[in-house]
Amino acid sequence: MFVKKHILSSATSFATPYYVIKGKLPGPAFMVVSGIHGNETGSIRAAQELVNLLNQRRLFIDCGTLIVIPKINKEAYRKRIRGVPDLNRAFPRKRNTPAQHPLAAALFLLAQRYRPSWYLDLHEANGLSQRNPKRLGQTLIVNSESRGLAVVKDIIKSMNRSISIQSNHFNIRLRELPGSSRTAAARILGAKAVTVETCWSLERTVRIKYQMDIVCRFLRAAGLMD
Ligand SMILES: [Zn+2]
Repeated sequence: MFVKKHILSSATSFATPYYVIKGKLPGPAFMVVSGIHGNETGSIRAAQELVNLLNQRRLFIDCGTLIVIPKINKEAYRKRIRGVPDLNRAFPRKRNTPAQHPLAAALFLLAQRYRPSWYLDLHEANGLSQRNPKRLGQTLIVNSESRGLAVVKDIIKSMNRSISIQSNHFNIRLRELPGSSRTAAARILGAKAVTVETCWSLERTVRIKYQMDIVCRFLRAAGLMD
């Protein structure tokens, strides 16, 4: 296993690193994206930490290929803003329709190249879903009829067993969001695509831990990790 660094949109103002980690054995491709919204720093930190742990050989990918883009929207991250325009409304809405932003186009092209069976998009949101069903904090979001649904439900169950504070428990949400990276990955590429949302009002270290924990559970479920 080795971690190879690449640059997405190199030679443009959008240039941002991504990492490809190949296991010794063949297996599925698995993509982790973070920083579509620049102010969701817990999820960005978690994706970077994942790359660090792999680099330090404290985590291993046994089979398949993991692609991690920790900070897709660098400009928004620098300003700590969600991003203008909202990158998560700029992905292709249908097959053969173009993305509405150069970064969405570059990321979608990368996803098209690897055809990931799993696609995780890491975000953060307001509120606790356990307290208010309208809130997206502490949720895993999938498109309806997602092939990944059973695994997502299992992961929520096992996550919640590990979280003693009931109000921090995760819930599932089924929704279509045309123009989002999740819906594009699910509907156009056929990936089992999941948006991971931690709650902003929790302590940063706790959010990072939840994000890391969820990503590792999906990596194990997909067979990439022991
Ligand atoms: Zn977001």
